[in-house]
Amino acid sequence: MSKSTLYQYGTLALLVPGLFKGTKSIGSLLSHGDTGIGTGDGLDGELVVLDGQPYQIDGSGNVNKLSEDFMVPFADVHFADYKDLFELKDFINPQKLEEAVLSKLNYNNIFFSFRLHGNFDKIVTRSVDKQTEPYPKLVECADKQNEFYGENKVGTLIGYYAPQIFNGPAVGGFHLHFLADDLSIGGHVLDFKVNNGMVKVQPFNNLEQVFPTDSNEFMQHDFSKDDVNGAISKAE
Ligand SMILES: [Zn+2]
Repeated sequence: MSKSTLYQYGTLALLVPGLFKGTKSIGSLLSHGDTGIGTGDGLDGELVVLDGQPYQIDGSGNVNKLSEDFMVPFADVHFADYKDLFELKDFINPQKLEEAVLSKLNYNNIFFSFRLHGNFDKIVTRSVDKQTEPYPKLVECADKQNEFYGENKVGTLIGYYAPQIFNGPAVGGFHLHFLADDLSIGGHVLDFKVNNGMVKVQPFNNLEQVFPTDSNEFMQHDFSKDDVNGAISKAE
């Protein structure tokens, strides 16, 4: 078990043409990490893995504990070994926090994980309803997403930074999810306001990229016709 490896199953790009079918179980994913984010079979909600426990924030905003046989088309996990970076003292939004993190590190060209536990004055998230086959394209799901708004929520921001050259396989830049301690809110992060908590990071010198080779649909798909970058900037 390496704490400097990020394990990525599937690619963000495969979601663009609608290859949403879950092809790996949460149980087998957990053997590669105890912390992470992802999405479910059929784009069924936003996933968060914290301390070895997988959670789903479904399209209605309910937070569910996942069983080992829940399937995923795309996920990132790693074994947590975070180092403190700085303590938040002033109110900060996503853009300012991302700038502050990058300015204190020389991690622009590597993958790293980001974690912050605190009391959020404001948190805005989104999640997507489970799609049925034949699956739509990712951009067509943008109008099927629901937004959730929380105030005074104690919880964890968890996610990854990917170098811009990896926009496509992953989201270039930050990709953050949120989970409240009391499981009252969570999802893909759109906005927040927070002024407390320790910002923690964990760099990776190794990316283990695993492809769904058992999926005929994936193996036969021609990605040259998909506007991967355009769709990712619209959807993420
Ligand atoms: Zn997300």
